[in-house]
Amino acid sequence: MNLEDSETLPTEDSISHDRGRREFLRLLGLVSLAPFAERLALAQAAVASHPAATVVAPAPKYFGHFSELPVGAVKPLGWSKAWLERQGTGLTGHPENMAYPFDTCMLGGTIPAPSVKHGDNWWRYEQSGYFFDGVTRLSHLIDDPNVHRLHQQGIDDIMTNSTDRGYGSSVFLWPNAVIGRGVAADYSAAATPAQKAALAALIERVVLTKPWPYGRDGVNAETGLYLYAHTGDPRFLDLATQAYNNYLTEKDSFCTKAKITGPDAFKEHGVTAAETLKMLALMYLYSGDPDALALTTTAFDKIIAKGLMPDGVPVSSEFLGTAEFNSLHETCDISDWTWSMGYCMMATGDAKWADIIERAIFNALPGAVTKDFKQFQYFSCANQILATSTSSHNTMTRMSYRAAHDTECCGGNVNRAMPNYVIRQWMKLPASSPRPGLAAVFYGPSEVTTEIAGQRVAITQTTDYPFRDTIHFKVQTARPVLFDLSLRIPGWCKSASLKINGKPATEKFEPGTFATISRRFKHNDVLELTLPMELRSEDWFDGQSAVVLRGPLVYTLDITEKRVEVTKDTPRVEKNLNGNFIQGFPAVEFTPASEWRYGIDPAVKADLTQIKVVETAMTANPFIPGQAPVHLELPLRRLPKWKPEWTAEPSPDADPETGRAVTPASLPKKKEMKDAEAATPQRLVPYGSTHIRLTTLPIVPVNNTDNA
Ligand SMILES: [Zn+2]
Repeated sequence: MNLEDSETLPTEDSISHDRGRREFLRLLGLVSLAPFAERLALAQAAVASHPAATVVAPAPKYFGHFSELPVGAVKPLGWSKAWLERQGTGLTGHPENMAYPFDTCMLGGTIPAPSVKHGDNWWRYEQSGYFFDGVTRLSHLIDDPNVHRLHQQGIDDIMTNSTDRGYGSSVFLWPNAVIGRGVAADYSAAATPAQKAALAALIERVVLTKPWPYGRDGVNAETGLYLYAHTGDPRFLDLATQAYNNYLTEKDSFCTKAKITGPDAFKEHGVTAAETLKMLALMYLYSGDPDALALTTTAFDKIIAKGLMPDGVPVSSEFLGTAEFNSLHETCDISDWTWSMGYCMMATGDAKWADIIERAIFNALPGAVTKDFKQFQYFSCANQILATSTSSHNTMTRMSYRAAHDTECCGGNVNRAMPNYVIRQWMKLPASSPRPGLAAVFYGPSEVTTEIAGQRVAITQTTDYPFRDTIHFKVQTARPVLFDLSLRIPGWCKSASLKINGKPATEKFEPGTFATISRRFKHNDVLELTLPMELRSEDWFDGQSAVVLRGPLVYTLDITEKRVEVTKDTPRVEKNLNGNFIQGFPAVEFTPASEWRYGIDPAVKADLTQIKVVETAMTANPFIPGQAPVHLELPLRRLPKWKPEWTAEPSPDADPETGRAVTPASLPKKKEMKDAEAATPQRLVPYGSTHIRLTTLPIVPVNNTDNA
């Protein structure tokens, strides 16, 4: 429908301009009835004066293997619901704890400059935009009045403050791209045509008013293409195509065609790379250009080949790099790479992208936050023996778990990762498929409700995955319906099996593929998918270290954590925080209270039957240290000569001369492997259940000691 056709639309002729406007917003259900009189005129400008069509052309052709369901079609259950509820009682529901700019008006007005000058003027809108997107998506997943209120405030601010230059108070192209994702989520979840029309008008106005050349600004194409998918308005595709061509040809673009296909690694900021490279996949989804598809695979493969860290996220501190013992990634990169690789998966249909996304979500994400979601790291590492305000491998304070960091991006961005994971767990098969259907792209306890062949179908996924290997799907439908159910068989799973209503399926399920079940599904049909999680090990750092994995979970040494809450930082630490001092949630520092200097014998790595898998009862929060429902027991050898690079206990301090933070430890040198002690039984625990960790276990040379 066209907004101009809406009887609720206020026009210049309205007798009571404000009252009409308020009524309009109330009917949309987007803005509370609180009188925002001073902003209503702007709201008029934002929406009503810019009528947009919701559908102007036939739905465009889609070339992907999977497409996204509307936000809200998948609801979390079990542990993932509990995780999202903790986001509500933690940072997403209480952004003021994250200090600036989350304690300001955010998108409701001009955000004041930070108290300590740093960064660019657009930062604060980008950061507020990340938060808005995160709280919006969370609000569509859980029933938390406070989260609903924060979402309502955000969309209200945007609807009433937007101008030709941007969403809400943003006047910057890149922050517009960030905020636009949240607006698109609301568009996707909108219950009525009037709501959709208002949000489409807003997106159209912001996205089409200013050209977006390339770089981060060009990412506005993402929201543009989202709307294109629903409206068919060719202007969005034209602009996205221009941006795409600029990415590939502009000489200062980091991802020209020559740079993508050439031998050299990309030289780019991790977030910029994640945000912009996804444009290759997006362009393929809507153009079908085989070049775009080939470039997508080449570009992302290049990054993961050398840069993927053991926890599933590319090195990004802050630039892309090669994974090493002390490599870091920014927490922003957890949200950004999982989001972007999701488009790779939709475009290529390759299950490996879903494997990497699960690896990041089940390991990097819980590893980078405290388990009540009240603190997060700016940088995290696979091997962090310390996580204190002065222990960083890079910049002071950034390895500590705190609600507010010196640079504010990750505080906004961390709220997006799990909501997006849940929203994308299920996807639709494209119209070009032989039959309509659904794909279980990621696994986790959830329920999806959608329409298939005109029939409302719900599928409940009951599972403790990734801690257990069995997933039950129960179908609910008023009448039998023929459709395809595509199940991802992870690349690590060599012996997947399926039972349909108790009867074993005879198909062979190939690892790293999607297995499709075509069936006339009936009410209460039950499918039981088992994905046996054999132990496996990976070589790291030219064979100097080993990482032990089971299913999508990465395991790390179980180090007893000494946890200290800090409610007021020392002046020296505060000096590094750009005025973002602790307010509310305390900072938390972790130091090791048990030996961490262990290595693994090559014989154990070669014979994983020496590792015992111990499953214990599932817990309400499986990520709390000591409460993970699975751990591994294996012989490890203490390395008494492995020298840590700090001495002070219990709170190691930075170098007093330079003020630089200390690196806790490095990959042990040959001489530090000498005199390895005889193996003793030790435990490995899921990466996500730790705050300090040793993940890449040094491989003890065979003949370095007579103690073996
Ligand atoms: Zn960040």
